Amino acid sequence: MELDSLYQEVILDHYKKPHHKGLPTGEIQVHHVNPNCGDEITLSLAIKEGKIQDLVWDGVGCSISQASASIMSDLVSGKSVAEAREALAQFTELMQSKGSLKGDEEVLEDAIALAGVSKFPARVKCALLSWMAFKDAAIQNGAIL
Ligand code: ZN
Repeated sequence: MELDSLYQEVILDHYKKPHHKGLPTGEIQVHHVNPNCGDEITLSLAIKEGKIQDLVWDGVGCSISQASASIMSDLVSGKSVAEAREALAQFTELMQSKGSLKGDEEVLEDAIALAGVSKFPARVKCALLSWMAFKDAAIQNGAIL
């Protein structure tokens, strides 16, 4: 899999030093698995005053899945539910674009580094795993996503 080298570096940085990774301690925890690749994530969060707070995840898997979880948690932490909803919608669209979209950096920040993954259908689930876990956890916390 060849990605733009600058983007490759962003992904590797997040993979080597993942953000918001730890022991999820929230009351509501979700566990998602990508059986195609063996990626797993456990994630918890809270929604306080309409904002995403206390997002913590733990997981194992390939560099794409782990980097995507780090990037996603940076992106949505502290954001309003509406902002997180928009980022989730845009990232999902990006991943389904088969390489035709580049992503809006204003909304997606580091997540645009994963744009090239959309050209590799087998890896799209790796990139989306943490985002789907986030969506699930947010919904279980009462958010409308
Ligand atoms: Zn994977």
